[in-house]
Amino acid sequence: MKEFQVIIIGGGGSGLTAALYTSRAKLSTLLVEKLTPGGQIALTDLVENYPGFPEGILGPEISQRMEEQAKRYGTEVEYREVTSLEKSNGKFLVKTAEETYTAQALILAAGASFRMLGVPGEKELTGKGVSYCATCDGAFFKNKEIIVVGGGDSALQEGLFLTRFATTVTIIHRRDKLRASPILQQRAQNDPKIKFIWDTVVEKISGQGKVGSVTLKDLKKNSSYEFKTDGVFIFIGHDPNTGFLKGFVELDDKNYIKTPNGSVKTSVDGVFAAGEIRAGAVKQLVAACGEGCEAALAAQEYIDHHHA
Ligand code: NAP
Repeated sequence: MKEFQVIIIGGGGSGLTAALYTSRAKLSTLLVEKLTPGGQIALTDLVENYPGFPEGILGPEISQRMEEQAKRYGTEVEYREVTSLEKSNGKFLVKTAEETYTAQALILAAGASFRMLGVPGEKELTGKGVSYCATCDGAFFKNKEIIVVGGGDSALQEGLFLTRFATTVTIIHRRDKLRASPILQQRAQNDPKIKFIWDTVVEKISGQGKVGSVTLKDLKKNSSYEFKTDGVFIFIGHDPNTGFLKGFVELDDKNYIKTPNGSVKTSVDGVFAAGEIRAGAVKQLVAACGEGCEAALAAQEYIDHHHA
């Protein structure tokens, strides 16, 4: 069983920043990540609102740089999925399929995963025209007609990115007002390749081996119709990655980790939460990094008090 002072679960902006701070504080640190470093940022094309990069920085690039920076100060990184957590004799046991690790303090930073529409055809046609990642799959849609589902920042930002490839990007939104920030709304509305269909939901995705059309329902007219498309990109928000935490820390009714009074403390002493996994997080990279820093400092203080 490998022993660490701090184990961070999740390698997005919050986890990588926490790792940078705990390693620089000379606490032995393990970061466990199930996919790739950077979390959601690694799947974003251009990050335009992280201070210090006036031209923006590519999502995969900032992710890789953050990982390098944490490793430079001693963070160990394991690409594994955590299956369960336990507290035993004042230490935490972090279990993965391959190995169990121990830590004096834990930082939960596993973020959230994209939400699925849950309509017929979606699962069957994922990877065959249905996608949740514009940077991963956009290039397959050169000169094609595609739809984007959602009305938030992700739908508009990724929709704008997809205009590089597609002839038309039709944004399907269930209301007649966008949730996205004004700057993205303005950009999308001024883009000749972007069209909007309002007050409409996707009922079904159809195609023989690949997407050919969707069934749309106009909620105002209460009527459905067929709409031809080559691709369906879905950006309708996220659900927290807290399945492995049930019964370990308190979660709210949407399964986000409760951290009273806007702090990074969870219901378990010595366990801290940072980034999108935390109830009340503002879900921006810069805020996630700030929370990662706060969680690292809180973990350091906890270890000083309890394990000195
Ligand atoms: P979001 O802000 O939660 O927006 C989700 C969108 O999908 C909303 O427009 C919502 O409609 C719609 N929606 C939800 N469930 C749906 C369903 N079942 N069927 C159809 N439509 C559905 O999610 P997000 O855009 O992924 O953004 C998540 C967070 O990351 C936000 O805080 C956002 O600001 C942040 N973010 C920021 C940037 C940036 O700063 N550039 C980029 C990406 C994300 P309603 O509006 O009707 O609820």
